[in-house]
Amino acid sequence: MMQDEVVRVEGLRVRYPTAARDAVTGIDFAVTTGEVFGLLGPNGAGKSTTQRVLTGQHHRYSGDVEVLGQPVAGRGRALYENIGVGFELPAYFPKLTARENLAAFTALYRRPADRPEQALATVGLAHAADQRVATFSKGMKMRLNLARAILHRPDVLFLDEPTSGLDPANAADVRAVIRAQADAGRTVLLTTHDMPAVEELCSRVAFMRDGAIVATDTPRNLRLAHGHRSVAVEFAEAGQLRQAEFPATDDPALLALLATGRVRTVHTREAALADVFIAVTGHRPAP
Ligand code: ATP
Repeated sequence: MMQDEVVRVEGLRVRYPTAARDAVTGIDFAVTTGEVFGLLGPNGAGKSTTQRVLTGQHHRYSGDVEVLGQPVAGRGRALYENIGVGFELPAYFPKLTARENLAAFTALYRRPADRPEQALATVGLAHAADQRVATFSKGMKMRLNLARAILHRPDVLFLDEPTSGLDPANAADVRAVIRAQADAGRTVLLTTHDMPAVEELCSRVAFMRDGAIVATDTPRNLRLAHGHRSVAVEFAEAGQLRQAEFPATDDPALLALLATGRVRTVHTREAALADVFIAVTGHRPAP
């Protein structure tokens, strides 16, 4: 293993007992210290399955999977001392308050954990510490989820769709919390459909499709390789405003249109990761 590899996956293959084909078809990737690594791809691509294997929640797989330098298989509880897991549907005690829930989880760890109040403050839930979790909104539950994942200051964070279903303001807050975790030196492995989160957070991403990784690189390199810039133009025609898109600012058809004097607005559109998503997976990212 390379010294700074926090996650190493070689030849990971998963088939669920009832399934006719592999959910993960033999993938390889590595995540190094301090990276925020994004696993992207359409529904059913195998992202959550990969996360479940990495976090010791799914044992029926073949291949080599190491987290923090040791195989995940047979690691048992020791794994959870060093990793933080935030998945979409967490189990809480609904009748207990946020503070009581986190206190209960703290008790599971041997390594020093933050006080519940501290973790709640980090995720912007200080005001709701004494509120029963049953009364939490979805956004609050997602924040609590994150608080639970970072409570014991783990070396690696595995987050599955941490901004799913959140309004833009809540999603931005959650992204900021993840950014701060990365800045504090934590390695983050993130599954998401949230392209702004990827743009803002990920140092590298892997796109999955049908259980395979079809592209891995920095968001910037992927945009350069697969995305395209374009020029969007609004112009007047027969008394109506029409729209057209051109591949470049020196496109002859665009220049001809400009020469007519009927062009009202011109915008260059940067290649977006959403374009890359479509190019490499053949699907549109979920909204
Ligand atoms: P999403 O974006 O919808 O979360 P995903 O990329 O995380 O999708 P997975 O949940 O890993 O995809 O699913 C990969 C494949 O494995 C899918 O075909 C799915 O139907 C199948 N699958 C997932 N969980 C099970 C299970 N418990 N039993 C059988 N098949 C499963």
